[in-house]
Amino acid sequence: MKIAFIGLGNMGGGMAANLVAAGHEVRAFDLSEGALAAAREKGSATFGSAAEACEGVDAVVSMLPNGGIVKAVYEGSVFGNAPAGAVLIDCSTIDVATAREVAALADGEGYAMVDAPVSGGIAAAEAGTLTFMVGGSEEGFARAEPILHAMGKAVIHAGDAGNGQAAKICNNMLLGIHMIGTAEAFAMAQKLGLDPQTFYDISSVSSGQCWSMTSYCPVPRVGPKTPADNDYQGGFATALMLKDLKLAMEAAGTAGMAPRIGAKAAELYEAFDAAGNGTRDFSAIITDY
Ligand code: NAD
Repeated sequence: MKIAFIGLGNMGGGMAANLVAAGHEVRAFDLSEGALAAAREKGSATFGSAAEACEGVDAVVSMLPNGGIVKAVYEGSVFGNAPAGAVLIDCSTIDVATAREVAALADGEGYAMVDAPVSGGIAAAEAGTLTFMVGGSEEGFARAEPILHAMGKAVIHAGDAGNGQAAKICNNMLLGIHMIGTAEAFAMAQKLGLDPQTFYDISSVSSGQCWSMTSYCPVPRVGPKTPADNDYQGGFATALMLKDLKLAMEAAGTAGMAPRIGAKAAELYEAFDAAGNGTRDFSAIITDY
């Protein structure tokens, strides 16, 4: 297939390379010349604008920073330049309302569009092991699925437009809550005189067990290798966790819901980010105790 790929940053760079590896012809665009040069090295053809990249394609995939940019790129460059039959796939993490608005605009222009945000970070984007949660029609999902499988290990239909984003922010709100809870439990165990490894050995096979403990332990040298073993570098940045928690609070507001623990997690990550920890892995919040 001919696929336009817009947004070749930390995530998009690896994802576009996996589409090339799967035999697709990738037509790439990014505002950054460095990102374009890296994409060329990994086998994509690069173009001077998103509009040019969209010419003659079967699909458009985007991986962009936020909803405002996604809306501007689709309205200004994709609609009218991508052929009428192209399927549009936005993999960025953006607010639910904008995802639904852009999908409705695409529908009005005659395109099938899905939101397909991901779980998994830069390493999973490079390895092609992302999980995609997809919102859109059955037809849009069926057309996007084989393309997404070239970049991920799991592709799940979450329902109508915007439901992929809803799944993503609910999942990441839970992740933020779990990580703070895990950090708090380890910090308290230590203050009560327990060795962290001993607490891990007990809790990881008891009812407090969770992914933040057994797959992403915030304590160095405990559990599998994680960013904690690398001075909290790499992994999932605090600033990105904060972005997702803010999106979750925004979506909750529009749904008339007031998450209590989610709001507290957003408040704690906001303070941790403001204290200069935005680029550290989100598990570094344990160093706050
Ligand atoms: P990034 O900043 O590294 O990449 C974004 C890219 O978009 C940049 O290269 C930028 O130049 C480009 N861009 C911005 N505006 C553009 C425009 N108008 N036209 C073309 N290109 C434009 O960010 P990232 O880490 O790759 O994240 C991308 C998306 O994936 C975000 O929505 C983020 O929340 C989500 N995400 C990131 C991670 C992660 O671990 N980094 C994990 C899951 C989801």
